[in-house]
Amino acid sequence: MQLIIHRGTQEIGGSCVEIKTTNSRILIDLGMPLVSSSGERFDPNILKGKSVEDLKKLAVLPRIEGLYKDEKRSIDGILISHSHLDHYGLLGYVHPDIPIYMSEGAKELIDITNLFVYREARSLNTKVISNKESFSIGDFKITPYLVDHSASDALTFLVEVERKRIFYSGDF
Ligand SMILES: [Zn+2]
Repeated sequence: MQLIIHRGTQEIGGSCVEIKTTNSRILIDLGMPLVSSSGERFDPNILKGKSVEDLKKLAVLPRIEGLYKDEKRSIDGILISHSHLDHYGLLGYVHPDIPIYMSEGAKELIDITNLFVYREARSLNTKVISNKESFSIGDFKITPYLVDHSASDALTFLVEVERKRIFYSGDF
């Protein structure tokens, strides 16, 4: 098992973590950055009219193979902890076949926010998950837990794989 923190360690927001085995790969969160690579406040208008390749060069999209539309898909699923843009705001760029797991409350809030905020808008391949109901993605067993955060129906995740346990606390 390998854990890769693509973004979100030395900054607030833009969270994205990958966990992979030889057979399976999942991401937890795919957030929009809150600061640009030069350290200023991130302006979402920079996204307009840009391709995935453009946004990789600008370091807006993390370089993750098999994640984006027009690539050969190799990510098995994405877990979204909660409905804040710095945790889900880049989902519009992912391959349409990748299932995206989130709570009912997060799904509703993301759908509503999409009506107002500029983003690569299209319907997501969403799978609704519930507090304490375990499910599997490839080699991974995942159990979501409800957590108190300023986003309704926010989840943390216990990920069990290869006899190891990883707990992702989101913004708690
Ligand atoms: Zn948050």
